[in-house]
Order: sequence, then C-alpha cells, then structure tokens
Amino acid sequence: MECIFCKIVSKEIPADVVYEDDKIIAFKDIHPVAPVHLLIIPKIHIPSIDHLELKDKTLIGELFLTAQKIAREKGVDKTGYRLTFNIGKDAGQTVDHLHLHLIGGKELPWL
Ligand code: AMP
Ligand code: ZN
Repeated sequence: MECIFCKIVSKEIPADVVYEDDKIIAFKDIHPVAPVHLLIIPKIHIPSIDHLELKDKTLIGELFLTAQKIAREKGVDKTGYRLTFNIGKDAGQTVDHLHLHLIGGKELPWL
C-alpha cells in the first residue's frame, strides 16, 4: 500500500494524532501554516471529494462534526477557523487520500 495517509491509519508511520474513532482519524499537519493546522481524514481510502459516492454521505458529515469538535477543543471556535478540501492539481492537492484541513489560531489571508 503506497498511500501515506493509509499508513498513518494503520500506524505504519507515526503521526501526532489528536482524535481517533472507528471511522476517522485527525492529526497535526507536518508543515503547519497556522498555529492550529490539523488534517481530518476517513480511515477508508477515498482519493478526493471528487470520488465521493452516495454511500459516503454519513461519513462526510461525521468528518465535519469531528472538525467542529476539535475546533472547540483547540479553542478556535471562539476566534474562527477555516475548513478546506483541496481537490486535484489546480487546488494543489498533494496527497490523494481525502483530507479536511482545519486551520486557525491566527487571521488567515484569503488566497
Ligand atoms: P493537500 O495539499 O491538500 O493535499 O495537503 C496535504 C497536506 O498533508 C500538506 O499540508 C502536508 O503538509 C501534509 N502532510 C503530508 N505528509 C504528512 C505526514 N506524514 N504527516 C502529517 N501531514 C502530512
Ligand atoms: Zn489512503
């Protein structure tokens, strides 16, 4: 298996995990762009939002609810935060395993 995020799920490579349940894992981004920069991913391998299927609709909702929960734990619900999916080349997606960026802890420029 080549996917780096699948290897984080299987604990083949280490990550700074902040949340885990049976379907989702969240960990610190290795190159943070803000004081809070976490990646929230499904444990199953889905390459991107462009590959979502109807059967994934509960999972994707849980991904957002997990983001909300972690944002509250980190305190950025008070100051604001950004949730981002990069999809494909023009958006700069570099890891082909669906991941939701949770970014906050400072004022964020818009593009
Ligand atoms: P994207 O550009 O949306 O595909 O985001 C991929 C993100 O994954 C980047 O922000 C990377 O810094 C991050 N990343 C890549 N490898 C790792 C890793 N092993 N552990 C944590 N974050 C990673
Ligand atoms: Zn994967």
